[in-house]
Amino acid sequence: MAVYKKVGLGLLKVIIILGGVLLFTVGLFGWMANFGIASYYQMILGFAVLVAEVIREDAVKLGVHKGQFSGMMDIGSWGWFVLCSVLPIPGILFYLFQRPKYVSAETASGTVECPFCKEPIKAGAIKCRWCGSEIPPVEASV
Ligand SMILES: [Zn+2]
Repeated sequence: MAVYKKVGLGLLKVIIILGGVLLFTVGLFGWMANFGIASYYQMILGFAVLVAEVIREDAVKLGVHKGQFSGMMDIGSWGWFVLCSVLPIPGILFYLFQRPKYVSAETASGTVECPFCKEPIKAGAIKCRWCGSEIPPVEASV
């Protein structure tokens, strides 16, 4: 099961990145061809999607998930993706503000979520004991 999930997430990532690049490129050409303000927004949206994907991957690495904190910032990694796509600048600022909390939560609990199979593994582990995936190292400082 874990393998299918991994392939699915990898495919989703490719689709997101291609979608972002396509939106940006079409918007850029539209802007140069004077298609107006809609092309400008399209460019921004395409760029925001790419940035949001970087944020989402960082959140996944940190083991961000719903139920971690109380309050409106408890939205999980996909929540951050949507927020940063729709409202890139406040979304990114919120994330940077929230990130140290996620890092300390992970250190405090001693376990993190495997980014591939979502099973709990020890913080600092380099290989998942459930699915055998190599875990990318997480930076402790911002
Ligand atoms: Zn795993």
